[in-house]
Amino acid sequence: MIKKVYLDYQATVPIRPEVLQRMNDVSTDIGNPNSTHSFGRKNAATIYNAKNVLADFLGVSSKDIFFTSGATESIEIALLGVVKKILPNLPKKDWNIITTPIEHKAVLNTIAEIISDHPNIQVRYLQLDQEGQIKPESLEALIDEHTLLVSVMYANNEIGTIFPIRKLGKIIRLHRSKHKSDYPVFHTDATQSLMYLNSKVDYLGVDMMTFSAHKIGGPLGIGALYVSPDAPTMRIRNGNPKESFFSRGTTSPTLVAGFARAIELISKLEIEKTVHLQRHLWSKLSNFPGILLNGPAIGEHRLPCNLNISTGIPALEMLLRLDLEGVAVSAGSACSSRSIDPSHVISAIYDDHSRVHSALRISFGYATTIEELDFFVKILSNNNIS
Ligand code: PLP
Repeated sequence: MIKKVYLDYQATVPIRPEVLQRMNDVSTDIGNPNSTHSFGRKNAATIYNAKNVLADFLGVSSKDIFFTSGATESIEIALLGVVKKILPNLPKKDWNIITTPIEHKAVLNTIAEIISDHPNIQVRYLQLDQEGQIKPESLEALIDEHTLLVSVMYANNEIGTIFPIRKLGKIIRLHRSKHKSDYPVFHTDATQSLMYLNSKVDYLGVDMMTFSAHKIGGPLGIGALYVSPDAPTMRIRNGNPKESFFSRGTTSPTLVAGFARAIELISKLEIEKTVHLQRHLWSKLSNFPGILLNGPAIGEHRLPCNLNISTGIPALEMLLRLDLEGVAVSAGSACSSRSIDPSHVISAIYDDHSRVHSALRISFGYATTIEELDFFVKILSNNNIS
């Protein structure tokens, strides 16, 4: 008899036992990693080794990886750093930033902050189709010599859309070489894709990449930022080289060691297992006549860990019914204990009130079983969705 089923992996992936083991192993090593003595040096070596694991995974130099408290902080540093660096050296004209309307709020809120501080910067949105996908050519239509920054997520956290980052990277590089310019800088939020997609920086052609450990089975409270050494961005604060945006205070060896261990555990086999889970779940749900699939069709343009469905029953009501039965899924964003704001992602794609207000995200991963998915399906059918 199943008691509790966690299907909210895209909010946070349960920490992996191997990660906990690694964190436990290093957590008793005393000493500030910035200290010169042998205690400090041991912890500094733990950080150095962890950075190398991340650098290898992305195919970059460890000098270009910076630890943060999570993807939100990485994104703020990445986007604000570019504007702070480039804008003061440019003539007072109208500039623009290109993004999509379905980025995570960490990106959209940072861009909103930039625009409110700089009224001469406008935001341009890439157009989405009915599956929440963009066409690379739509970037060609928007980009011009006044584009400072392009920020497009690698994969969406609500509907799992995989964006064509490599193609966008090629367009941006071509544009820069045509205009002999070092901008627009290209940033991708890879928080949801890290576990499932090719994350090599050279392959993607990005200048900045941001991500977080807790979305891959690592600990909460640690993220990272990759910045190309050629990207024009502000690395130091207040003009003081000792105060860097990229290294804030003392890094935790325990957290970074856990992060690196989670990276090491990413495996093809597990990706295949997740693909199987997704297919299984959709084969059951697609038999329910009332259910609509939100986002791309199951396949190469959708993350394997995600399904997003509209049931016709208000999302909060459904979420609570499932929760009472021990099943955790997610819907929109909780704005107070009693209401849920409809998801900005679903609202950006569908002009259908019932679909938008009844959307549920089901996300799963390494520890999910077929039995758990079947249990979820059974509860759904017991709740008049069939
Ligand atoms: N970007 C995406 C696509 C996300 O899904 C999330 C978290 O949900 C974030 C950024 C923010 O991540 P963090 O919780 O590490 O700040």
